[in-house]
Amino acid sequence: MDQQKSTASLRQYLKASGYSFTKQRRKVFDCLILNHPIAMHELLIKLNDSMDPVSVYRTIDLFEKLNIVQRINFGWKYKLELTDNFVNHHHHLLCLGCGKVININQAEIETFIGYTAAKQGFLASSHQLEIQGYCRSCLTEAKKTVNRRVV
Ligand SMILES: [Zn+2]
Ligand SMILES: [Zn+2]
Repeated sequence: MDQQKSTASLRQYLKASGYSFTKQRRKVFDCLILNHPIAMHELLIKLNDSMDPVSVYRTIDLFEKLNIVQRINFGWKYKLELTDNFVNHHHHLLCLGCGKVININQAEIETFIGYTAAKQGFLASSHQLEIQGYCRSCLTEAKKTVNRRVV
């Protein structure tokens, strides 16, 4: 979904929930479109010039309540991301080495989750799937270090 369209849908979405479309809400939302997922402290830094932290926290609280934003859990940490109402459904690979997050979108995963739930007579309405591990460049780096040690 392009940014213009998303911003228009945020306006409608807030209105439908009885909230107004303010400059600050728009700012937080735009930041989430450009950087997803993002940790709270990263969001605070990005918005530092134009918003005070309390307003950012308040806006995120509201966005979570209205299902505009969701938390993605990586171990005991979490990152924030727009929900499927605003971005295309996807999952994440999180690198434990460098912290990079890769968004993945694989139809087979969706089919498999639906099938697994249906086998139990269960109608799946939502799910999260986050995979932790090491990215290609961290693995290459690790190999280099091992080789250096051998030499
Ligand atoms: Zn990495
Ligand atoms: Zn999925």
